Amino acid sequence: MQTKLLINGQLIAGEGESLAVLNPSLGAPLVQIAEASEAQVDAAVRAADAAFDGWSQTAPKDRAMLLLRLADRIEAHAEELAKLESDNCGKPFGAALNDEIPAIADVFRYFAGASRCLSGSAAGEYLPGHTSMIRRDPLGVVASIAPWNYPLMMAAWKLAPALAAGNTVVLKPSEQTPLTALKVAEFLAEIFPAGVVNIVFGRGASVGTPLVTHARVRMVSLTGSIATGANIISSTAASVKRMHMELGGKAPVLIFDDADIEAAVEGIRTFGFYNAGQDCTAACRIYAQKGIYEKFVAALGDAVGSLKTGLQNDAATELGPLITAQHRDRVSGFVERASGQSHIEVVTGGKAVAGDGFFFQPTVLAGAQQDDEIVRNEVFGPVVSVTPFDDELQALTWANDSDYGLASSIWTRDVGRAHRLSARLQYGCTWVNTHFMLVSEMPHGGVKRSGYGKDMSMYGLEDYTAVRHVMFKH
Ligand code: NAD
Repeated sequence: MQTKLLINGQLIAGEGESLAVLNPSLGAPLVQIAEASEAQVDAAVRAADAAFDGWSQTAPKDRAMLLLRLADRIEAHAEELAKLESDNCGKPFGAALNDEIPAIADVFRYFAGASRCLSGSAAGEYLPGHTSMIRRDPLGVVASIAPWNYPLMMAAWKLAPALAAGNTVVLKPSEQTPLTALKVAEFLAEIFPAGVVNIVFGRGASVGTPLVTHARVRMVSLTGSIATGANIISSTAASVKRMHMELGGKAPVLIFDDADIEAAVEGIRTFGFYNAGQDCTAACRIYAQKGIYEKFVAALGDAVGSLKTGLQNDAATELGPLITAQHRDRVSGFVERASGQSHIEVVTGGKAVAGDGFFFQPTVLAGAQQDDEIVRNEVFGPVVSVTPFDDELQALTWANDSDYGLASSIWTRDVGRAHRLSARLQYGCTWVNTHFMLVSEMPHGGVKRSGYGKDMSMYGLEDYTAVRHVMFKH
């Protein structure tokens, strides 16, 4: 197993504290890995800074070639990477292999092409005797911080646009799930010039903080919780770095009386519970109109009750464990507090599964009310709440009454209603009659406390650049 850091083109062992990396299905360590020391974080940032001038001047077509080679290498090692990811996250091997790896390769390929299409928006004589042009130029060293739910995919979302735009990067994967990023470090070391990409391993406090606060880091790109985002914003405020924040979510799902109920039930069974619900866009906060509410809750309970929880390498498994024992206990706490309320019914699930792995039963809680904790806060587990509503305005008001603003969906056969509501939902994304579908060409990112900045799409590439004005006197 590759456990070394990548610093200035060299794979080297960490010199900090040694941490256990677990298999959450078994609750047992897979490997011990040493964190980067502060001196190693500093060396990684300095290497990235030294590599910036050369890399930023590389022709886009040459940067694109290297990103394409990386995509090919990832695909060539698909099985190995999928196994590492599923062992380290507990997620089903088939999902890692068939859903995630192709999407990861596609992100690198998309940004390889996108790097050649970056353009300034004006060139002309806006003052007599002077010609102006607008450039989009890279920023410098980007500190990229990834979460544990889709470790390599989140790393790809960060690395691909930053590198395509001509920045250099120091990536810190989550301390819980570093294995795929460290494996890919081998490919990066072969493909990219020394220092262009560096990977350091370790926890937020010991490695993340010295990285994001480093004076030579010009931009911080985080996918993580709101608390971590706020912490990074405040700890770097004095240095006024560019920030890109992809934070938590609590997606409202509006199901109207006229919806295809079977499709909505199937959609929530899939998109509320994919990755054991550990997904920032998970279809978790359901509002069902009163005409179909009873029928919908019963059908959803049956569907969710049929989900198969199990080991990551069992082909029948649809749902893996939660990432850590602490996270499972946190999810349990949410469900216990909710089910202790007399108006809430546990339709299915509701309990942690006994054993060494960190499993939690797929859970549907019906009768939840707008002010309940379970409706307001991100659980990040296999738990959905269902709240009945009267009419369109009430559903819209409740959907928008949230600190989060990442993703939402509307389920209806009324096209006018779908347009009306999608224009007024305060979310970075609204799906109509589906949920969760992402493509490299479309922007992903939130509003409100879900953050700012976009992953993927040309907007994602632009986020890793500065708009610059260059003026020539004739
Ligand atoms: P987290 O915030 O605990 O950790 C995310 C990363 O930040 C980890 O690598 C962690 O080590 C690092 N970190 C923590 N403190 C830090 C600090 N002070 N300085 C620098 N780095 C620090 O989040 P998590 O538990 O790994 O992931 C779950 C969260 O991520 C959820 O809230 C989820 O909604 C969010 N998420 C959002 C998106 C999105 O696209 N918006 C996607 C996936 C996950």
